Amino acid sequence: MRIARFVVDADPMYGVVEGEPGREEVTVIKGDPFFNGVERTSIRHKLEDVRLLAPIIPRSKVVGIGRNFVEHAHELGNEVPKKPFMFLKPNTSVVGPNDPVVLPEFSDEVSYEAELCVVIGRICKDVPEERVDEVIFGYTCGNDLTARDVQKTDQQWARAKGFDTSAPLGPWIETELDPDALSIKGWLNGELRQNGNTNQMIWGVRELVSAVSKAFTLLPGDVIMTGTPAGVDLVKAGDRYEIEVEGIGRLSNPIVRR
Ligand code: MG
Repeated sequence: MRIARFVVDADPMYGVVEGEPGREEVTVIKGDPFFNGVERTSIRHKLEDVRLLAPIIPRSKVVGIGRNFVEHAHELGNEVPKKPFMFLKPNTSVVGPNDPVVLPEFSDEVSYEAELCVVIGRICKDVPEERVDEVIFGYTCGNDLTARDVQKTDQQWARAKGFDTSAPLGPWIETELDPDALSIKGWLNGELRQNGNTNQMIWGVRELVSAVSKAFTLLPGDVIMTGTPAGVDLVKAGDRYEIEVEGIGRLSNPIVRR
């Protein structure tokens, strides 16, 4: 099931997206599916008539995983880490489909990173790998935009990974998905730049969620960005980066400088 968050004219709502590609409809659901379950109303909209928002604004955090693909670690001259390598992006970094990514004034080297993102469904801590499926609400696409210059010069990655608009998420959350072998693709201005698969991850989704939950209590709506495949490069104002994770959909965002 695909759960979207959207606006028609005023307040954000959640809905279920269904139908053939190009002819999808959104059925409005009551309340917040993270707490109320999915209760459909009789209200439906054509997908093209709604504006999709980030499918979740995490209440507490986005946890990023660094260097989870061997080729990507090597392309930036880094060793493969011996344990999952974690960082945080604040919830203020999250934007939705088609929202502009605003390049921060303190960086001249911002890079895209196409990623599979895990959305947590319930409060949890110290989750064993065999029980991870119980705490996952679903999956979405994400772009872990990174200011490479500041990443090298700052001692912490807070600015490099956490600036406003550095975490586009969407287009919706797919709740039924096996994450073990999904293609992850990214296009810069329509040109394929990243073409990986979750089966190339050093640590798979279950290992990651378990490891992250040992460091942080996870809350409903928290997001884990699971790492990017090789092919990262810089973006500039006027570009557009588009991400597709197999079985979920496409997330596209323009890049601007203000
Ligand atoms: Mg990343």
